[in-house]
Amino acid sequence: MARTLRVIEDISFSGIGIHSGEPCEVLLRPGDSSGIFFDLPGGFFPVEAADCDGSSRGTRLVFPDGSEILTVEHLLGALAGLEVWSAVISVKGPEIPAMDGSARIFAESIAKAAGPGFEIEPISIIRGIALGDPSRGGFISVIPSDAFEITCAIRYEAKGIGCQVFEGVVTPETFRDDIAPARTFVLASEIEGILKSGLGRGGAFDNVLVVKDDTPPAPGDLRLPDEPVRHKVLDIIGDLATLGAPLRGRVVAYRAGHDLHLELVRRIRRSLVPA
Ligand SMILES: [Zn+2]
Repeated sequence: MARTLRVIEDISFSGIGIHSGEPCEVLLRPGDSSGIFFDLPGGFFPVEAADCDGSSRGTRLVFPDGSEILTVEHLLGALAGLEVWSAVISVKGPEIPAMDGSARIFAESIAKAAGPGFEIEPISIIRGIALGDPSRGGFISVIPSDAFEITCAIRYEAKGIGCQVFEGVVTPETFRDDIAPARTFVLASEIEGILKSGLGRGGAFDNVLVVKDDTPPAPGDLRLPDEPVRHKVLDIIGDLATLGAPLRGRVVAYRAGHDLHLELVRRIRRSLVPA
Protein backbone atom coordinates (compact mmCIF):
# COMPACT_ATOMS: atom_id res chain seq x y z
CA MET A 1 0.00 0.00 0.00
CA ALA A 2 1.07 3.59 -0.55
CA ARG A 3 0.29 6.59 1.59
CA THR A 4 -1.12 9.36 -0.58
CA LEU A 5 -2.62 12.82 -0.17
CA ARG A 6 -6.21 13.97 -0.48
CA VAL A 7 -7.97 17.21 -1.32
CA ILE A 8 -9.02 18.62 2.05
CA GLU A 9 -10.81 21.80 0.98
CA ASP A 10 -12.79 22.94 -2.05
CA ILE A 11 -10.78 24.28 -4.99
CA SER A 12 -12.27 25.77 -8.13
CA PHE A 13 -10.83 26.80 -11.48
CA SER A 14 -12.53 28.66 -14.27
CA GLY A 15 -11.50 29.72 -17.74
CA ILE A 16 -11.83 28.94 -21.41
CA GLY A 17 -11.68 25.40 -22.76
CA ILE A 18 -8.81 25.18 -25.25
CA HIS A 19 -10.73 23.16 -27.83
CA SER A 20 -14.34 24.23 -27.27
CA GLY A 21 -13.53 27.90 -26.67
CA GLU A 22 -16.36 27.89 -24.12
CA PRO A 23 -16.23 29.14 -20.53
CA CYS A 24 -15.73 26.18 -18.20
CA GLU A 25 -15.53 25.66 -14.47
CA VAL A 26 -14.21 22.77 -12.44
CA LEU A 27 -14.66 22.18 -8.72
CA LEU A 28 -12.58 19.77 -6.64
CA ARG A 29 -14.04 18.70 -3.30
CA PRO A 30 -12.82 16.37 -0.58
CA GLY A 31 -13.82 12.73 -1.00
CA ASP A 32 -14.40 10.24 1.77
CA SER A 33 -12.29 7.43 0.34
CA SER A 34 -9.34 6.94 -1.94
CA GLY A 35 -10.01 7.49 -5.62
CA ILE A 36 -10.58 10.26 -8.16
CA PHE A 37 -14.35 10.54 -8.61
CA PHE A 38 -16.50 12.56 -11.01
CA ASP A 39 -19.84 13.87 -9.75
CA LEU A 40 -21.96 13.93 -12.92
CA PRO A 41 -25.63 14.46 -13.77
CA GLY A 42 -26.17 10.70 -14.15
CA GLY A 43 -24.14 9.46 -11.20
CA PHE A 44 -20.94 9.38 -9.27
CA PHE A 45 -18.13 7.56 -11.10
CA PRO A 46 -14.46 6.79 -10.44
CA VAL A 47 -12.17 7.99 -13.21
CA GLU A 48 -11.42 4.40 -14.19
CA ALA A 49 -15.10 3.89 -15.12
CA ALA A 50 -14.69 6.25 -18.08
CA ASP A 51 -13.93 5.28 -21.65
CA CYS A 52 -10.94 7.35 -22.67
CA ASP A 53 -10.52 8.77 -26.15
CA GLY A 54 -7.24 10.37 -27.19
CA SER A 55 -7.83 10.71 -30.89
CA SER A 56 -8.16 14.50 -31.16
CA ARG A 57 -5.31 16.40 -29.47
CA GLY A 58 -6.49 15.84 -25.93
CA THR A 59 -8.08 13.27 -23.66
CA ARG A 60 -11.85 12.98 -23.55
CA LEU A 61 -13.59 10.94 -20.88
CA VAL A 62 -16.94 9.34 -21.63
CA PHE A 63 -18.76 8.10 -18.53
CA PRO A 64 -21.42 5.39 -18.21
CA ASP A 65 -24.19 8.05 -17.94
CA GLY A 66 -23.12 9.47 -21.32
CA SER A 67 -21.42 12.55 -19.82
CA GLU A 68 -18.32 13.67 -21.68
CA ILE A 69 -15.48 15.82 -20.41
CA LEU A 70 -12.77 17.11 -22.71
CA THR A 71 -9.12 17.87 -21.99
CA VAL A 72 -8.82 16.26 -18.57
CA GLU A 73 -5.13 15.43 -18.85
CA HIS A 74 -3.46 18.43 -17.20
CA LEU A 75 -5.78 18.45 -14.17
CA LEU A 76 -5.45 14.68 -13.72
CA GLY A 77 -1.71 15.07 -14.24
CA ALA A 78 -1.54 17.62 -11.41
CA LEU A 79 -3.40 15.30 -9.03
CA ALA A 80 -1.31 12.22 -9.90
CA GLY A 81 1.95 14.18 -10.05
CA LEU A 82 1.38 15.52 -6.54
CA GLU A 83 0.24 12.07 -5.30
CA VAL A 84 -3.24 13.36 -4.50
CA TRP A 85 -5.44 10.30 -4.94
CA SER A 86 -8.67 11.36 -3.28
CA ALA A 87 -10.91 14.04 -4.77
CA VAL A 88 -14.39 14.58 -6.15
CA ILE A 89 -14.48 16.53 -9.41
CA SER A 90 -17.49 18.30 -10.91
CA VAL A 91 -17.44 20.28 -14.12
CA LYS A 92 -19.60 23.01 -15.65
CA GLY A 93 -19.14 23.21 -19.40
CA PRO A 94 -17.72 20.72 -21.88
CA GLU A 95 -14.10 20.87 -20.87
CA ILE A 96 -11.53 21.39 -18.12
CA PRO A 97 -10.38 25.03 -18.42
CA ALA A 98 -7.04 25.50 -20.20
CA MET A 99 -5.64 27.98 -17.65
CA ASP A 100 -2.10 28.81 -18.91
CA GLY A 101 -1.79 25.63 -21.00
CA SER A 102 0.24 23.84 -18.33
CA ALA A 103 -0.54 22.17 -15.01
CA ARG A 104 1.16 24.89 -12.95
CA ILE A 105 -1.96 26.70 -11.76
CA PHE A 106 -3.72 23.42 -10.96
CA ALA A 107 -0.66 22.11 -9.12
CA GLU A 108 -0.13 25.25 -7.03
CA SER A 109 -3.73 25.32 -5.82
CA ILE A 110 -3.99 21.57 -5.26
CA ALA A 111 -0.71 21.53 -3.28
CA LYS A 112 -2.13 24.22 -0.95
CA ALA A 113 -5.42 22.38 -0.47
CA ALA A 114 -4.01 18.86 0.05
CA GLY A 115 -3.43 16.98 3.28
CA PRO A 116 -2.75 13.46 4.52
CA GLY A 117 -4.92 11.01 2.63
CA PHE A 118 -5.85 7.37 2.44
CA GLU A 119 -3.77 4.31 1.79
CA ILE A 120 -4.09 3.09 -1.77
CA GLU A 121 -2.82 0.00 -3.56
CA PRO A 122 -0.48 1.12 -6.37
CA ILE A 123 -0.61 -0.61 -9.74
CA SER A 124 2.68 -2.51 -10.04
CA ILE A 125 3.91 -3.60 -13.42
CA ILE A 126 4.85 -7.26 -13.29
CA ARG A 127 6.09 -7.70 -16.87
CA GLY A 128 6.86 -5.36 -19.71
CA ILE A 129 4.22 -4.10 -22.10
CA ALA A 130 5.13 -2.39 -25.37
CA LEU A 131 3.05 -1.05 -28.22
CA GLY A 132 3.60 1.11 -31.22
CA ASP A 133 1.85 3.27 -33.78
CA PRO A 134 3.46 2.50 -37.14
CA SER A 135 1.65 5.41 -38.82
CA ARG A 136 3.91 7.92 -37.10
CA GLY A 137 6.71 5.70 -35.79
CA GLY A 138 5.52 6.19 -32.21
CA PHE A 139 6.16 3.81 -29.36
CA ILE A 140 5.31 3.48 -25.66
CA SER A 141 6.21 0.82 -23.14
CA VAL A 142 6.27 0.16 -19.43
CA ILE A 143 8.59 -2.12 -17.48
CA PRO A 144 8.71 -3.03 -13.78
CA SER A 145 10.15 -0.49 -11.34
CA ASP A 146 9.64 0.32 -7.65
CA ALA A 147 9.15 3.97 -8.60
CA PHE A 148 7.11 5.90 -11.16
CA GLU A 149 9.68 6.82 -13.79
CA ILE A 150 9.30 8.29 -17.26
CA THR A 151 11.69 8.49 -20.17
CA CYS A 152 10.18 10.40 -23.06
CA ALA A 153 11.69 11.44 -26.37
CA ILE A 154 10.23 13.41 -29.25
CA ARG A 155 11.45 14.16 -32.74
CA TYR A 156 9.97 16.79 -35.02
CA GLU A 157 11.16 17.56 -38.51
CA ALA A 158 10.59 21.22 -37.63
CA LYS A 159 13.81 22.83 -36.38
CA GLY A 160 11.76 24.78 -33.86
CA ILE A 161 11.47 21.60 -31.77
CA GLY A 162 13.86 18.98 -33.22
CA CYS A 163 14.91 16.10 -30.92
CA GLN A 164 14.35 16.31 -27.16
CA VAL A 165 14.49 13.82 -24.31
CA PHE A 166 13.45 13.90 -20.66
CA GLU A 167 14.05 11.30 -18.03
CA GLY A 168 13.15 11.30 -14.38
CA VAL A 169 11.43 9.79 -11.38
CA VAL A 170 8.06 11.46 -10.86
CA THR A 171 7.76 12.76 -7.30
CA PRO A 172 5.70 15.72 -6.06
CA GLU A 173 8.90 17.80 -6.09
CA THR A 174 10.05 16.87 -9.60
CA PHE A 175 6.50 17.22 -10.86
CA ARG A 176 6.10 20.72 -9.42
CA ASP A 177 9.49 22.02 -10.57
CA ASP A 178 10.30 20.15 -13.79
CA ILE A 179 7.00 19.11 -15.36
CA ALA A 180 3.92 21.08 -14.22
CA PRO A 181 5.02 24.45 -15.72
CA ALA A 182 5.53 23.01 -19.23
CA ARG A 183 2.89 24.43 -21.57
CA THR A 184 0.91 22.92 -24.40
CA PHE A 185 2.76 23.66 -27.61
CA VAL A 186 1.88 23.88 -31.24
CA LEU A 187 3.88 24.46 -34.38
CA ALA A 188 2.86 27.62 -36.20
CA SER A 189 2.28 25.54 -39.36
CA GLU A 190 -0.23 23.28 -37.54
CA ILE A 191 -2.57 26.04 -36.36
CA GLU A 192 -4.64 26.39 -39.51
CA GLY A 193 -5.31 22.64 -39.74
CA ILE A 194 -6.26 22.43 -36.06
CA LEU A 195 -8.75 25.28 -36.38
CA LYS A 196 -10.20 23.77 -39.58
CA SER A 197 -10.80 20.50 -37.74
CA GLY A 198 -12.90 22.40 -35.19
CA LEU A 199 -10.33 22.18 -32.39
CA GLY A 200 -8.25 24.82 -30.64
CA ARG A 201 -11.06 27.41 -30.59
CA GLY A 202 -9.93 28.60 -27.17
CA GLY A 203 -6.22 28.67 -28.07
CA ALA A 204 -4.39 31.94 -27.49
CA PHE A 205 -0.85 33.13 -26.87
CA ASP A 206 -1.44 33.01 -23.12
CA ASN A 207 -2.39 29.31 -23.08
CA VAL A 208 -0.29 27.76 -25.86
CA LEU A 209 3.40 27.94 -26.65
CA VAL A 210 3.53 28.62 -30.38
CA VAL A 211 6.81 27.36 -31.85
CA LYS A 212 8.00 28.66 -35.22
CA ASP A 213 8.77 25.77 -37.54
CA ASP A 214 12.19 26.90 -38.71
CA THR A 215 13.64 28.64 -35.65
CA PRO A 216 14.19 27.26 -32.16
CA PRO A 217 12.49 29.36 -29.46
CA ALA A 218 14.73 31.94 -27.78
CA PRO A 219 15.66 30.85 -24.23
CA GLY A 220 13.52 33.68 -22.84
CA ASP A 221 10.43 32.30 -24.61
CA LEU A 222 10.58 29.06 -22.62
CA ARG A 223 9.76 28.39 -18.99
CA LEU A 224 12.03 25.34 -18.89
CA PRO A 225 14.68 23.88 -21.20
CA ASP A 226 13.10 21.45 -23.68
CA GLU A 227 9.65 22.59 -22.57
CA PRO A 228 7.83 20.62 -25.33
CA VAL A 229 9.10 17.19 -24.23
CA ARG A 230 8.33 18.04 -20.61
CA HIS A 231 4.77 18.84 -21.65
CA LYS A 232 4.59 15.39 -23.24
CA VAL A 233 5.65 13.94 -19.88
CA LEU A 234 2.81 15.88 -18.23
CA ASP A 235 0.37 14.43 -20.77
CA ILE A 236 1.65 10.90 -20.03
CA ILE A 237 1.19 11.40 -16.27
CA GLY A 238 -2.32 12.77 -16.79
CA ASP A 239 -3.37 9.97 -19.13
CA LEU A 240 -1.95 7.25 -16.87
CA ALA A 241 -3.96 8.77 -14.00
CA THR A 242 -7.05 7.30 -15.68
CA LEU A 243 -5.84 4.01 -14.19
CA GLY A 244 -7.28 5.39 -10.94
CA ALA A 245 -4.24 4.55 -8.79
CA PRO A 246 -0.52 5.36 -8.69
CA LEU A 247 1.67 3.43 -11.11
CA ARG A 248 4.86 1.64 -10.12
CA GLY A 249 6.69 1.20 -13.37
CA ARG A 250 9.07 2.81 -15.78
CA VAL A 251 7.42 4.26 -18.87
CA VAL A 252 9.49 4.74 -22.01
CA ALA A 253 7.83 6.73 -24.79
CA TYR A 254 8.98 7.95 -28.19
CA ARG A 255 6.77 10.10 -30.41
CA ALA A 256 3.74 8.90 -28.47
CA GLY A 257 0.47 10.79 -28.06
CA HIS A 258 -2.79 10.59 -26.13
CA ASP A 259 -4.08 7.66 -28.19
CA LEU A 260 -0.98 5.56 -27.46
CA HIS A 261 -0.89 6.59 -23.78
CA LEU A 262 -4.52 5.49 -23.38
CA GLU A 263 -3.95 2.24 -25.25
CA LEU A 264 -1.16 1.55 -22.76
CA VAL A 265 -3.67 2.19 -19.94
CA ARG A 266 -6.02 -0.40 -21.47
CA ARG A 267 -3.17 -2.91 -21.84
CA ILE A 268 -2.04 -2.36 -18.24
CA ARG A 269 -5.62 -2.94 -17.04
CA ARG A 270 -5.87 -6.15 -19.03
CA SER A 271 -2.54 -7.34 -17.62
CA LEU A 272 -3.97 -7.00 -14.09
CA VAL A 273 -6.88 -9.32 -14.75
CA PRO A 274 -5.84 -12.87 -13.80
CA ALA A 275 -5.81 -15.11 -16.89
ZN1 LIG B 1 -1.14 18.50 -22.87
